[in-house]
Amino acid sequence: MSEGDSDEDDLDSRWQRVCERLRGEIGETAYRSWLKPMAVRELRDGAVRIAVPTRFMRDWVLAHYLERLQLYWRDECADVRGVDIVVQSDRAIRGEEEVRARDQRAAPEARRAPAGSAPSRNGSRVSGRDELSAPLDPRFTFDHFVVGKPNEFAYAAAKRVAEASTVTFNPLFLYGGVGLGKTHLMHAIAWHIGTRDPTRTVVYLSAEKFMYRFIRALREQNMMDFKEQFRSVDVLMIDDVQFISGKDSTQEEFFHTFNDLVDQGRQIVISADKSPSDLEGMEERLISRLNCGLVADIHATTYELRLGILESKAEQMNVQVPRKIMEFLAHRITANVRELEGALNRVIAHAQLVGRDITMETTQEVLHDLLRANDRRVTIEEIQKRVSEHFNIRLSDMHSARRARSVARPRQVAMYLAKQLTTRSLPEIGRKFGGRDHTTVMHAVRKVDELRDRDAGFAEDVELLRRMLES
Ligand code: ADP
Ligand code: MG
Repeated sequence: MSEGDSDEDDLDSRWQRVCERLRGEIGETAYRSWLKPMAVRELRDGAVRIAVPTRFMRDWVLAHYLERLQLYWRDECADVRGVDIVVQSDRAIRGEEEVRARDQRAAPEARRAPAGSAPSRNGSRVSGRDELSAPLDPRFTFDHFVVGKPNEFAYAAAKRVAEASTVTFNPLFLYGGVGLGKTHLMHAIAWHIGTRDPTRTVVYLSAEKFMYRFIRALREQNMMDFKEQFRSVDVLMIDDVQFISGKDSTQEEFFHTFNDLVDQGRQIVISADKSPSDLEGMEERLISRLNCGLVADIHATTYELRLGILESKAEQMNVQVPRKIMEFLAHRITANVRELEGALNRVIAHAQLVGRDITMETTQEVLHDLLRANDRRVTIEEIQKRVSEHFNIRLSDMHSARRARSVARPRQVAMYLAKQLTTRSLPEIGRKFGGRDHTTVMHAVRKVDELRDRDAGFAEDVELLRRMLES
C-alpha cells in the first residue's frame, strides 16, 4: 500500500469519528440537516478542508459548529490548526466522489492527487442559486434582536413571514432610517427559514447586487437565465431598494420579476430607507404594488430600547458593564443602533486592552468624537426652547435673573437636561443660562435628581422632555 493510500483511509475514518462525536452531541436531526451533507476533502499543512453543498450551509456550520469541529479534529490529529469549510455544489461533490471512486478502481497510487487538487478546481463552482444570495451574518438572528416599541411591529411581521409555510403578506416592505435593524430582520428571516426547512430556497441580496446582475445579464444578453434564476426561489429578499429608484430599466425588470414571483406565490421581502410612496423616482405602478402587501416601519430608537440592546450585547459578549455606563451610552448615543453597538465595542475593547475597569472617565475619553457628533443633534438652545414651551414660560426667562419658583424650576430642568444630553461642561452651560456660575448648574442638577426621586409626576415630566428632545 502506498503512503497516499493509508493517509486517505485515515482521513475518512478520522472524519467518521469526528462526525460520530458531533452526532452524539447535537442529536440526529441537526446532524442530518447540517453535518451529513458535508464531505471531508483533504488535510494539508495543518488545515482540514471540508466541503458543503451550499453557501447557506457553510455560514451556518461556521457559526455553530466550527469550534467543535476544530476541537474534535485536534483530538484526532494533534497538528490540525484549522478547519476550512468550502462550498461545492452537490453536483461538484458527487462528481468528485465519482472521480475518487474511479481513481480508486483504476490506480490506487493516483488517488491522492485528484482528491487533493479537486476542491481548488471546483471550489468556486457553486450552484447558480447559491451564488445568487449574499452571505448572511450569523449574529443577525431573531434571538439576538431586541424588541421594543419602535420595532415591535416590524419584528412581528418579519417573524410571521419566517414562520409561515405559505405566503402571508406579499410583499413585506420594511422601512426605516439607517442602522435601525432592517438588514438584521431580513437575515433573521433567512436564518429561521433555512434552519427549519433547508429545502426552501431563500435568496437575500442588496438592491445594488440585483442591479449589477441585471445589467450584466442585459449586456451579455442573458435575460432568460437571469429570470430563470429567480424563478426557483421561494423567498426573495432585496435590501435597500432605494438604490433601485430612478434607474429605469432596472426598475422595469425589478417590477416584472417581482410580479412574476408574486403571481407564482413566492414570498418577497423588501427594505428601504423610506416608505414606498416617499421613494423618489419610483414608478407609480411599482409603488402601488409595493403598497399592496404589508408596510412596516421601524421608528427611531427610544432610551429603553437602546438600554435593552446594550444589555443584550454585553451579555452576548460575556462582559460586565456597569449599569451607569450603559445608561450613559443609551442617553448619549442616540443616532442609531449601529453607532450604539460601535460605542459599546470601543469601550469594552479599551478596557480589555489596558486591563482596567470600565469607568465613566475612560468612557467619555474613548468616545470623545462620537459623543461630540451625537451632541450636535441636541443643542442647549433647543433644550431651552422645549422646556420653556413645556412649562409655559417665556424663553427669555431661561436667561433672566428672576428667581420665582415658576421660572426657576423650569430653568433648573433645562440645565439638568443640558448636562445629560450634551457634552457641554458646567461652566459652558452656566454661560448659556444668562452667565450663571457653574455651581448654580451643579446645584440645579442635584436638585432635579432629588426631585425626580421624590416626585413621580415631576420625574415623568423630565422623562417626557428628554424623549422629545432625543427623538
Ligand atoms: P439597517 O439595515 O436598518 O441599516 P442593520 O440591520 O444593519 O440596520 O443594524 C445595524 C446594527 O444594529 C446591526 O449590528 C444590528 O445587529 C444592530 N441592531 C439593530 N437593531 C437591533 C435590535 N433591535 N436588537 C439588536 N441589535 C440590533
Ligand atoms: Mg441595511
